[in-house]
Formats: sequence, C-alpha cells, structure tokens
Amino acid sequence: MEIALNKNMFASDNYSGICPEAWQSLEEANQGFVNSYGDDAWTTRACNALRDFFEVDCQVFFVFNGTAANSLAIASLCRSYHSVICHEMAHVETDECGAGEFFSNGTKILLVPGADGKIDHQAVTHTVQRRSDIHYPKPKVLSVTQATELGTVYSPDELTAIGELARQHELYLHMDGARFANALAGLKVNPKDLSWQAGVDVLTFGGTKNGMAVGEAVVFFNRQLAQEFDYRCKQAGQLASKMRYLAAPWVGLIESGALLKNALHANHCAQLLAEELLSVAEIKLIHPVQANAVFVQLPLNLMTALHHAGWHFYTFIGSGHARFMCSWQTRQEDIRTFGNELRTLAADCCQPLTNQVRNP
Ligand SMILES: *Cc1c(COP(=O)(O)O)cnc(C)c1O
Repeated sequence: MEIALNKNMFASDNYSGICPEAWQSLEEANQGFVNSYGDDAWTTRACNALRDFFEVDCQVFFVFNGTAANSLAIASLCRSYHSVICHEMAHVETDECGAGEFFSNGTKILLVPGADGKIDHQAVTHTVQRRSDIHYPKPKVLSVTQATELGTVYSPDELTAIGELARQHELYLHMDGARFANALAGLKVNPKDLSWQAGVDVLTFGGTKNGMAVGEAVVFFNRQLAQEFDYRCKQAGQLASKMRYLAAPWVGLIESGALLKNALHANHCAQLLAEELLSVAEIKLIHPVQANAVFVQLPLNLMTALHHAGWHFYTFIGSGHARFMCSWQTRQEDIRTFGNELRTLAADCCQPLTNQVRNP
C-alpha cells in the first residue's frame, strides 16, 4: 500500500489505518452466515488466543472502544459509593468525559500525582488512609495505565509492587492497556509478567492503536469480577451483533505475531523520531521514550514554525510541550523527512540570542 507523506502522521497512533494482518482476518471472517452476538467460532478462537497469550484461563469480552472498555471494567469493580484512584494524567480522568463515573452510577475518581505518568505509592496510601469515615467515597479500585499517557512503562517489578500496594489497601487493580502491546514490546517480557502475575484483576487491552479498525478486549484475570459483564456490555450499547468482526482481528494479530511486531515497529520509530528531535539543541526530552511516544519541550517559535509548515502534533500537556506518536504504519523515511525539515526550520527560527541582539 503506497501512501504519500502525511504531516498528520505523528499526531496520534490512532491516525493509522488497519494493518494487513487485521485486514486479512476480517476478509477471512467475511464468509457467509455466522452466529451473532459472540456465539461464533471467531469469538471463541479470539478468546482462546488471548488465553494462550496470557497463559491463563481469563474471561474475555470484546467492545468497540477504550472508553467503554475502561468504564465498564471499572463499573464492574465498584459500587456507586466507592472511589477509583488513578494518576492525574490518566485517560479515565482526562479523556473519557466522565464515562467511568457514569457507568458506575457515580463512583468518584480520586487523583494522585507521580513522576513520568506513574502513580506515586505514598500518594495512593495517603488517599486511602486519610479518611475512614462514612462521608468519604470508599476507595475500591486502583487504576494504572500501561504504557502510561506520558509514554513511559511500568517494569514488572514496579507493577508487582503496585499489585502489593493494591492488595494491602484491599483495592482491585485495573489496568488501562490501550498501549499494552507497546509496553510489552518495550520491556521484552511475557504478557503474564505485566498482568495477572503482577496482580492485575482486569485489563483493558487495546487493539485499535495497534492496528485494528476498531475494538478493545476486556480481560478479566479475576474471573469472579466478570459476573454479568455481558449484561453491562449490552446495556451500554457495546455488544456487537456481528461480533466476528470485532473478534477476528485479535485472532489475526495474535496468531501471526503482528501484535508484537506492530508495537516493536512503533516503539523503534519513536526512538528514531526522538533522535531527530534531539538533533536540535533547543529541544529537550521531558519523559524517557519507553514505548511509542516522544514528549519534548521545544521553543514556542519553533513549534509555531512546525505548525505553519503543516506538521500536526498535540500540545495538550502544557505550554512548550509537544507529543509525537508513532504507529505500525509510521515510515522511517518520513521520520527522516521530518528531521530534515525540523533542522531547517530550527536554523531559521532558533538563532542564538547574540545574533538577534546584533541584528535587531
Ligand atoms: C486511546 C486511549 C484509550 C481509548 O480511547 P477511545 O478513544 O475511547 O478508544 C484509552 N486509554 C488510553 C491511555 C488511550 O490512549
């Protein structure tokens, strides 16, 4: 598939298309009549592929997007008077329009800080222990994002410590794994090391950003918590009638190994992109590049010059900060093109101050 240079490509990993392996499995699934609502061979095969992937007998559900996956998972762990503790940058807090609170009928989200997008343990403990009276929403869930919203990853040891922290405070552990595959690829460990072995009760596993058209899997390692989850999905409008089309791409991506291949490629591209960005002295990295995102600080005039040149990237994290994302579809030659253009623009607009003073 030949695609032209598109200056939107670093804006988000969900700007990418459908990867060939996911496309092929959709084509294979598109044969004749098949039972609906998940009562079909593709759904069974996808659930089993995920069980093999995690090396455990987990309960699996397929939904349309990450917001539904996260908020329905959280709702199944809490009652309305409970609370969920997560990082202040967590997607469930900043980017889901209150869906977690909505689907759990009012469960409150309590925020904790932490460097590089990772939760601070003491802040979690403080949030749990600062009150024990009936007037405070009872903490019930700890939610972490892997890879984090700031492009970093929790190591297996860090996750195991979080699992212990959760157990110590009698909290369920939820993981937003919209980019779980990128974390796996970055750490080169087994899926079980970053999930149930570390104490994760339920994982929302992202397919969309990895290369599917649509779809996330909700994976319950704690099977009891999955009770009646199918009803939640149905009520929330998340039960696909032609379920085979949500399930088949998981079969394609897992059985072919493309899931990890896509993530490795995206992560590698992020490393290359970071090198290009850091070739300009005025640009500084603000978080380590451990998955498929690059977060940098850059001079405002250079940011404006890049935007004027047509490059689209997000600056939501604060003034002078920019996020660049890579995906399975990012091409190395486009990263080099970006780097060349960046250096030209930087040479024009980041003159040393002495020059500007000399030539007012
Ligand atoms: C993209 C993303 C999601 C899913 O978002 P939807 O748009 O609802 O599919 C969830 N969590 C994180 C951290 C994400 O980046």
